[in-house]
Amino acid sequence: MEGTELATEWRALRERLARSRFRSRFRLSDEDRAYAARCGWETLAAQAGKIVRERLAPAAPRNDGRQTPMRGHPVFVAQHATATCCRGCLAKWHGIPAGRPLSDAEIARIVAVQLAWMREAAGDLSGFPHQGTLGI
Ligand SMILES: [Zn+2]
Repeated sequence: MEGTELATEWRALRERLARSRFRSRFRLSDEDRAYAARCGWETLAAQAGKIVRERLAPAAPRNDGRQTPMRGHPVFVAQHATATCCRGCLAKWHGIPAGRPLSDAEIARIVAVQLAWMREAAGDLSGFPHQGTLGI
């Protein structure tokens, strides 16, 4: 997906998410932010990809609807905040039908949305010990 296309899509999604009290109450903890700073966004993106592939991508994910903890990793928080936590939410919010495996393009888009949310939610990380510039 092109950067500008993603930015437009993210702005539209962000507006929809902001209208949900449930979605908009999620925040990154200082522990999540310190973790993000320590890892850097490239590593977080790789971790998000692994989580999405393992927990969401199969046609019938294990424990679907309950597979995403509420905390413990910044990607889990991002999943609830962006409605990419289970196949039901992917169908309802993102128009991705349940009951079939996710495509590589869908996985890439889901990860991009999670990263966009995490980067905004993390705010300024320069006060935490971090690797290089924190940029991807
Ligand atoms: Zn869900």
